[in-house]
Amino acid sequence: MFESLISFVREQYGTNEFIPLHAPLFQGREREYVADTIESTFVSSVGAYVDRFERDMAAYTGSPRAVAVVNGTAALHVALKLAGVQPGELVITQPLTFVATCNAIAYCGAEPVFIDVDRDTLGLSAVALAQWLDEHARLDTDGQCRTKADGKLVRACVPMHTFGHPADIDGLVSVCAQWNLALVEDAAESLGSLYKGRHTGTFGLLGTLSFNGNKVITTGGGGMVLAGEALGARAKHLTTTAKIPHPYEYVHDEVGYNYRLPNLNAALGCAQLEMLDSFVQAKRELAERYAEHFRGSELSFLTEPEECRSNYWLNAVICQDGSQRDALLKATNESGVMTRPIWALMNRLAFHANARAGALPNAHWLEERVVNIPSSVIPGLCR
Ligand SMILES: *Cc1c(COP(=O)(O)O)cnc(C)c1O
Repeated sequence: MFESLISFVREQYGTNEFIPLHAPLFQGREREYVADTIESTFVSSVGAYVDRFERDMAAYTGSPRAVAVVNGTAALHVALKLAGVQPGELVITQPLTFVATCNAIAYCGAEPVFIDVDRDTLGLSAVALAQWLDEHARLDTDGQCRTKADGKLVRACVPMHTFGHPADIDGLVSVCAQWNLALVEDAAESLGSLYKGRHTGTFGLLGTLSFNGNKVITTGGGGMVLAGEALGARAKHLTTTAKIPHPYEYVHDEVGYNYRLPNLNAALGCAQLEMLDSFVQAKRELAERYAEHFRGSELSFLTEPEECRSNYWLNAVICQDGSQRDALLKATNESGVMTRPIWALMNRLAFHANARAGALPNAHWLEERVVNIPSSVIPGLCR
Protein backbone atom coordinates (compact mmCIF):
# COMPACT_ATOMS: atom_id res chain seq x y z
CA MET A 1 0.00 0.00 0.00
CA PHE A 2 3.00 2.34 0.37
CA GLU A 3 4.57 1.26 -2.94
CA SER A 4 3.86 4.57 -4.62
CA LEU A 5 5.65 6.45 -1.81
CA ILE A 6 8.62 4.10 -1.97
CA SER A 7 8.99 4.44 -5.72
CA PHE A 8 8.44 8.20 -5.50
CA VAL A 9 11.32 8.54 -3.02
CA ARG A 10 13.55 6.27 -5.13
CA GLU A 11 12.80 8.42 -8.18
CA GLN A 12 13.78 11.61 -6.34
CA TYR A 13 17.11 10.23 -5.16
CA GLY A 14 17.72 8.22 -8.35
CA THR A 15 18.94 5.10 -6.57
CA ASN A 16 17.95 1.54 -5.73
CA GLU A 17 20.35 1.50 -2.78
CA PHE A 18 19.48 2.30 0.84
CA ILE A 19 18.09 5.83 1.26
CA PRO A 20 18.87 7.41 4.66
CA LEU A 21 16.69 9.95 6.43
CA HIS A 22 19.26 12.71 6.21
CA ALA A 23 22.81 12.60 4.87
CA PRO A 24 25.22 15.56 4.73
CA LEU A 25 26.44 16.92 1.39
CA PHE A 26 29.96 18.25 0.80
CA GLN A 27 30.26 19.84 -2.61
CA GLY A 28 31.55 23.30 -1.73
CA ARG A 29 34.92 24.38 -0.31
CA GLU A 30 34.88 21.91 2.63
CA ARG A 31 38.06 20.05 1.61
CA GLU A 32 39.97 23.25 0.92
CA TYR A 33 39.13 24.89 4.26
CA VAL A 34 39.74 21.75 6.34
CA ALA A 35 43.09 21.12 4.59
CA ASP A 36 43.95 24.74 5.33
CA THR A 37 43.62 24.17 9.09
CA ILE A 38 45.89 21.11 8.87
CA GLU A 39 48.53 23.00 6.90
CA SER A 40 48.41 25.87 9.39
CA THR A 41 48.57 23.42 12.38
CA PHE A 42 45.66 25.38 13.91
CA VAL A 43 43.25 22.46 14.15
CA SER A 44 42.24 22.92 17.77
CA SER A 45 40.47 25.36 20.05
CA VAL A 46 41.63 28.64 18.54
CA GLY A 47 41.93 29.68 14.94
CA ALA A 48 40.79 31.98 12.20
CA TYR A 49 37.93 29.71 11.08
CA VAL A 50 36.28 29.84 14.51
CA ASP A 51 36.19 33.63 14.39
CA ARG A 52 35.03 33.60 10.78
CA PHE A 53 32.30 30.99 11.42
CA GLU A 54 30.97 33.11 14.28
CA ARG A 55 31.04 36.31 12.22
CA ASP A 56 29.45 34.64 9.19
CA MET A 57 26.69 33.05 11.29
CA ALA A 58 25.92 36.34 13.04
CA ALA A 59 25.69 38.05 9.66
CA TYR A 60 23.55 35.25 8.19
CA THR A 61 21.02 35.12 11.03
CA GLY A 62 21.08 38.81 11.90
CA SER A 63 22.01 37.95 15.49
CA PRO A 64 24.32 40.54 17.12
CA ARG A 65 26.55 37.71 18.40
CA ALA A 66 27.05 34.04 17.55
CA VAL A 67 29.32 31.91 19.74
CA ALA A 68 30.55 28.56 18.41
CA VAL A 69 30.54 25.58 20.79
CA VAL A 70 31.15 21.80 20.67
CA ASN A 71 27.54 20.77 20.11
CA GLY A 72 23.95 21.91 20.34
CA THR A 73 23.46 20.40 23.78
CA ALA A 74 26.37 22.47 25.15
CA ALA A 75 24.87 25.55 23.47
CA LEU A 76 21.58 24.92 25.29
CA HIS A 77 23.34 24.31 28.60
CA VAL A 78 25.22 27.61 28.40
CA ALA A 79 22.17 29.51 27.13
CA LEU A 80 20.11 28.32 30.10
CA LYS A 81 22.91 29.25 32.54
CA LEU A 82 23.06 32.71 31.00
CA ALA A 83 19.27 33.00 31.19
CA GLY A 84 19.82 32.70 34.95
CA VAL A 85 18.50 29.16 35.47
CA GLN A 86 19.51 27.96 38.95
CA PRO A 87 19.25 24.56 40.65
CA GLY A 88 15.73 23.83 41.88
CA GLU A 89 14.03 26.21 39.44
CA LEU A 90 11.50 25.27 36.76
CA VAL A 91 11.99 25.55 33.01
CA ILE A 92 9.02 25.14 30.70
CA THR A 93 9.46 23.18 27.48
CA GLN A 94 7.62 20.86 25.12
CA PRO A 95 7.45 17.07 25.60
CA LEU A 96 7.71 16.60 21.84
CA THR A 97 11.42 17.23 21.33
CA PHE A 98 14.81 15.55 21.10
CA VAL A 99 16.16 14.60 24.53
CA ALA A 100 18.94 17.23 24.40
CA THR A 101 16.49 20.02 25.25
CA CYS A 102 15.61 18.38 28.57
CA ASN A 103 19.13 17.19 29.29
CA ALA A 104 20.34 20.80 29.23
CA ILE A 105 17.64 21.73 31.75
CA ALA A 106 18.80 18.86 33.99
CA TYR A 107 22.48 19.93 33.68
CA CYS A 108 21.42 23.22 35.33
CA GLY A 109 19.85 21.30 38.20
CA ALA A 110 16.46 22.61 37.10
CA GLU A 111 13.22 20.71 36.50
CA PRO A 112 11.32 20.63 33.21
CA VAL A 113 7.62 21.44 32.98
CA PHE A 114 6.05 19.86 29.92
CA ILE A 115 3.44 21.94 28.07
CA ASP A 116 1.53 20.87 24.98
CA VAL A 117 2.44 21.70 21.38
CA ASP A 118 0.32 23.07 18.54
CA ARG A 119 -0.77 20.55 15.93
CA ASP A 120 0.10 22.75 12.97
CA THR A 121 3.65 23.76 14.02
CA LEU A 122 4.61 20.86 16.33
CA GLY A 123 6.10 23.61 18.51
CA LEU A 124 5.24 24.80 22.03
CA SER A 125 1.68 26.15 22.19
CA ALA A 126 1.40 29.74 23.45
CA VAL A 127 -2.24 29.06 24.35
CA ALA A 128 -1.44 25.96 26.41
CA LEU A 129 1.45 27.85 28.03
CA ALA A 130 -0.79 30.76 29.06
CA GLN A 131 -3.42 28.35 30.37
CA TRP A 132 -0.94 26.43 32.52
CA LEU A 133 0.54 29.64 33.94
CA ASP A 134 -2.90 31.10 34.71
CA GLU A 135 -3.82 27.95 36.56
CA HIS A 136 -0.56 27.08 38.32
CA ALA A 137 1.54 30.25 38.65
CA ARG A 138 1.45 33.76 40.08
CA LEU A 139 3.58 36.87 39.59
CA ASP A 140 5.11 37.82 42.93
CA THR A 141 5.65 41.38 44.17
CA ASP A 142 9.32 40.99 43.15
CA GLY A 143 8.09 40.43 39.57
CA GLN A 144 9.12 36.76 39.55
CA CYS A 145 6.92 33.94 38.34
CA ARG A 146 6.38 31.27 40.99
CA THR A 147 4.13 28.22 41.25
CA LYS A 148 1.06 28.70 43.45
CA ALA A 149 1.35 25.25 45.00
CA ASP A 150 4.96 25.22 46.19
CA GLY A 151 6.48 28.61 45.37
CA LYS A 152 9.02 27.24 42.85
CA LEU A 153 10.54 29.89 40.61
CA VAL A 154 9.67 29.47 36.94
CA ARG A 155 12.70 30.97 35.21
CA ALA A 156 12.67 30.20 31.53
CA CYS A 157 10.75 28.80 28.59
CA VAL A 158 12.37 26.73 25.82
CA PRO A 159 10.27 26.20 22.69
CA MET A 160 11.72 24.08 19.89
CA HIS A 161 11.22 24.69 16.17
CA THR A 162 10.37 21.12 15.27
CA PHE A 163 11.80 19.73 12.00
CA GLY A 164 12.56 23.34 10.99
CA HIS A 165 8.99 24.66 11.22
CA PRO A 166 8.88 27.85 13.31
CA ALA A 167 6.73 27.71 16.45
CA ASP A 168 4.16 30.44 17.25
CA ILE A 169 6.87 32.94 18.16
CA ASP A 170 4.70 36.06 18.53
CA GLY A 171 2.40 34.22 20.94
CA LEU A 172 5.30 32.80 22.96
CA VAL A 173 7.18 36.13 23.13
CA SER A 174 4.05 37.80 24.46
CA VAL A 175 3.26 35.16 27.14
CA CYS A 176 6.91 35.06 28.27
CA ALA A 177 7.00 38.86 28.57
CA GLN A 178 3.77 38.86 30.58
CA TRP A 179 5.09 36.23 33.00
CA ASN A 180 8.70 37.43 33.14
CA LEU A 181 10.10 34.21 31.69
CA ALA A 182 13.40 34.16 29.81
CA LEU A 183 12.71 32.89 26.29
CA VAL A 184 15.44 30.54 25.00
CA GLU A 185 14.80 29.16 21.51
CA ASP A 186 16.05 25.67 20.70
CA ALA A 187 16.63 26.36 17.01
CA ALA A 188 18.83 23.27 16.54
CA GLU A 189 16.65 22.06 13.65
CA SER A 190 15.65 25.36 12.09
CA LEU A 191 18.76 27.16 10.82
CA GLY A 192 17.64 29.01 7.70
CA SER A 193 13.97 29.11 8.74
CA LEU A 194 12.23 32.47 8.95
CA TYR A 195 9.31 33.67 11.04
CA LYS A 196 7.77 36.80 9.53
CA GLY A 197 11.00 37.36 7.64
CA ARG A 198 13.34 37.01 10.62
CA HIS A 199 15.58 34.05 11.52
CA THR A 200 14.44 31.62 14.19
CA GLY A 201 16.78 31.69 17.19
CA THR A 202 16.91 35.51 17.20
CA PHE A 203 13.59 36.24 18.94
CA GLY A 204 14.40 35.03 22.44
CA LEU A 205 16.90 36.30 24.99
CA LEU A 206 19.12 33.55 23.59
CA GLY A 207 18.86 30.99 20.80
CA THR A 208 20.81 27.82 20.07
CA LEU A 209 21.83 25.93 16.91
CA SER A 210 23.26 22.46 16.25
CA PHE A 211 25.62 21.35 13.49
CA ASN A 212 25.47 17.63 14.21
CA GLY A 213 25.92 15.37 11.20
CA ASN A 214 22.19 15.07 10.56
CA LYS A 215 21.31 18.77 10.72
CA VAL A 216 20.79 21.13 7.77
CA ILE A 217 24.51 22.00 7.79
CA THR A 218 27.18 20.13 9.74
CA THR A 219 30.57 20.73 11.35
CA GLY A 220 30.86 17.04 12.26
CA GLY A 221 29.72 18.02 15.73
CA GLY A 222 29.05 21.58 16.78
CA GLY A 223 26.63 24.18 17.98
CA MET A 224 26.15 27.92 18.36
CA VAL A 225 24.70 30.30 20.90
CA LEU A 226 22.87 33.29 19.39
CA ALA A 227 22.57 36.33 21.65
CA GLY A 228 22.84 40.10 21.99
CA GLU A 229 26.22 41.76 22.55
CA ALA A 230 26.39 41.50 26.34
CA LEU A 231 25.10 37.92 26.70
CA GLY A 232 27.11 36.90 23.63
CA ALA A 233 30.30 38.15 25.29
CA ARG A 234 29.33 36.23 28.45
CA ALA A 235 28.69 33.10 26.38
CA LYS A 236 32.13 33.38 24.76
CA HIS A 237 33.80 33.81 28.15
CA LEU A 238 31.94 30.97 29.84
CA THR A 239 32.51 28.50 26.99
CA THR A 240 36.24 29.24 26.74
CA THR A 241 37.20 28.32 30.35
CA ALA A 242 36.43 31.82 31.67
CA LYS A 243 40.01 32.92 31.08
CA ILE A 244 40.85 36.58 31.58
CA PRO A 245 42.44 37.76 28.31
CA HIS A 246 46.21 38.08 28.74
CA PRO A 247 49.15 37.42 26.39
CA TYR A 248 50.63 34.66 28.60
CA GLU A 249 49.09 34.42 32.06
CA TYR A 250 46.45 31.85 32.95
CA VAL A 251 43.91 33.43 35.27
CA HIS A 252 40.23 32.45 35.28
CA ASP A 253 37.51 34.40 37.07
CA GLU A 254 34.80 31.72 37.45
CA VAL A 255 34.16 28.04 36.79
CA GLY A 256 34.05 27.98 33.00
CA TYR A 257 33.49 25.27 30.44
CA ASN A 258 35.68 23.90 27.70
CA TYR A 259 32.92 24.02 25.14
CA ARG A 260 35.10 25.50 22.35
CA LEU A 261 34.46 24.36 18.80
CA PRO A 262 37.79 23.21 17.26
CA ASN A 263 39.05 25.21 14.27
CA LEU A 264 38.96 22.01 12.19
CA ASN A 265 35.20 21.76 12.70
CA ALA A 266 34.70 25.50 12.20
CA ALA A 267 36.44 25.24 8.82
CA LEU A 268 33.88 22.65 7.73
CA GLY A 269 31.17 24.95 9.09
CA CYS A 270 32.37 27.97 7.06
CA ALA A 271 32.19 25.94 3.86
CA GLN A 272 28.79 24.46 4.76
CA LEU A 273 27.37 27.87 5.63
CA GLU A 274 28.29 29.05 2.11
CA MET A 275 25.99 26.26 0.84
CA LEU A 276 23.12 26.84 3.25
CA ASP A 277 20.91 28.96 1.01
CA SER A 278 21.15 26.49 -1.85
CA PHE A 279 20.48 23.60 0.61
CA VAL A 280 17.35 25.31 1.91
CA GLN A 281 16.16 26.05 -1.61
CA ALA A 282 16.75 22.40 -2.64
CA LYS A 283 14.97 21.13 0.50
CA ARG A 284 12.01 23.39 -0.21
CA GLU A 285 11.86 22.06 -3.75
CA LEU A 286 11.78 18.47 -2.43
CA ALA A 287 9.09 19.44 0.10
CA GLU A 288 6.98 20.88 -2.72
CA ARG A 289 7.27 17.60 -4.61
CA TYR A 290 6.29 15.65 -1.49
CA ALA A 291 3.30 17.96 -0.93
CA GLU A 292 2.19 17.30 -4.50
CA HIS A 293 2.73 13.54 -4.09
CA PHE A 294 0.62 13.39 -0.90
CA ARG A 295 -2.21 15.61 -2.24
CA GLY A 296 -5.45 13.68 -1.82
CA SER A 297 -3.67 10.81 -0.01
CA GLU A 298 -4.51 9.35 3.40
CA LEU A 299 -1.20 10.67 4.71
CA SER A 300 -1.10 14.36 5.44
CA PHE A 301 2.19 16.11 4.59
CA LEU A 302 3.38 18.66 7.13
CA THR A 303 3.79 22.11 5.56
CA GLU A 304 5.26 25.37 6.84
CA PRO A 305 3.12 27.54 9.15
CA GLU A 306 1.63 30.79 7.83
CA GLU A 307 3.97 33.75 7.45
CA CYS A 308 6.96 31.41 7.80
CA ARG A 309 9.65 30.09 5.51
CA SER A 310 10.66 26.68 6.77
CA ASN A 311 14.02 25.05 5.99
CA TYR A 312 12.13 21.70 5.76
CA TRP A 313 15.00 20.04 7.63
CA LEU A 314 13.07 16.80 8.06
CA ASN A 315 9.95 16.17 6.03
CA ALA A 316 7.09 14.57 7.94
CA VAL A 317 3.71 13.02 7.33
CA ILE A 318 0.83 12.61 9.77
CA CYS A 319 -0.78 9.15 9.56
CA GLN A 320 -4.45 8.57 10.28
CA ASP A 321 -3.70 6.39 13.30
CA GLY A 322 -1.03 4.32 15.03
CA SER A 323 -1.59 1.16 13.03
CA GLN A 324 -1.21 2.99 9.73
CA ARG A 325 1.96 4.54 11.11
CA ASP A 326 3.36 1.11 12.03
CA ALA A 327 2.52 -0.26 8.58
CA LEU A 328 4.24 2.70 6.91
CA LEU A 329 7.38 2.32 9.05
CA LYS A 330 7.55 -1.41 8.32
CA ALA A 331 6.97 -1.19 4.56
CA THR A 332 9.44 1.64 3.95
CA ASN A 333 12.26 0.44 6.18
CA GLU A 334 11.99 -3.10 4.80
CA SER A 335 12.37 -1.62 1.32
CA GLY A 336 15.53 0.29 2.24
CA VAL A 337 13.81 3.66 2.39
CA MET A 338 14.50 4.96 5.87
CA THR A 339 11.63 6.45 7.85
CA ARG A 340 11.35 7.08 11.58
CA PRO A 341 8.59 7.78 14.07
CA ILE A 342 8.70 11.07 15.96
CA TRP A 343 10.41 10.93 19.39
CA ALA A 344 8.76 9.26 22.35
CA LEU A 345 7.42 12.10 24.51
CA MET A 346 9.92 13.31 27.11
CA ASN A 347 7.42 12.84 29.96
CA ARG A 348 7.39 9.11 29.12
CA LEU A 349 11.13 8.71 29.76
CA ALA A 350 11.81 7.01 33.09
CA PHE A 351 13.88 9.88 34.48
CA HIS A 352 11.09 12.40 33.77
CA ALA A 353 8.23 10.17 34.92
CA ASN A 354 7.46 12.49 37.84
CA ALA A 355 7.96 15.76 35.98
CA ARG A 356 5.29 18.45 36.07
CA ALA A 357 3.15 18.61 32.94
CA GLY A 358 0.03 20.27 31.63
CA ALA A 359 -2.58 18.43 29.58
CA LEU A 360 -0.86 17.05 26.48
CA PRO A 361 -3.58 16.03 24.00
CA ASN A 362 -1.79 17.30 20.87
CA ALA A 363 1.59 15.86 21.84
CA HIS A 364 -0.01 12.44 22.39
CA TRP A 365 -1.97 12.66 19.16
CA LEU A 366 1.16 13.56 17.17
CA GLU A 367 3.38 11.03 18.93
CA GLU A 368 1.16 8.27 17.63
CA ARG A 369 1.01 9.52 14.03
CA VAL A 370 4.05 11.46 12.85
CA VAL A 371 6.69 9.82 10.64
CA ASN A 372 9.78 11.43 9.13
CA ILE A 373 10.58 10.57 5.53
CA PRO A 374 13.86 10.95 3.57
CA SER A 375 14.94 14.57 3.49
CA SER A 376 18.59 14.80 2.38
CA VAL A 377 19.41 17.57 -0.06
CA ILE A 378 19.18 16.20 -3.60
CA PRO A 379 22.45 17.38 -5.21
CA GLY A 380 20.76 17.99 -8.56
CA LEU A 381 18.33 20.45 -6.97
CA CYS A 382 21.19 22.56 -5.54
CA ARG A 383 21.70 25.76 -7.44
C1 LIG B 1 20.05 18.13 17.34
C2 LIG B 1 19.29 18.76 18.43
C3 LIG B 1 19.92 19.34 19.55
C4 LIG B 1 21.39 19.40 19.77
O1 LIG B 1 22.05 18.25 19.48
P1 LIG B 1 23.61 18.03 19.49
O2 LIG B 1 23.72 16.65 18.93
O3 LIG B 1 24.08 18.15 20.88
O4 LIG B 1 24.27 19.04 18.58
C5 LIG B 1 19.11 19.96 20.49
N1 LIG B 1 17.79 20.00 20.37
C6 LIG B 1 17.16 19.47 19.30
C7 LIG B 1 15.69 19.57 19.22
C8 LIG B 1 17.88 18.81 18.31
O5 LIG B 1 17.23 18.27 17.27
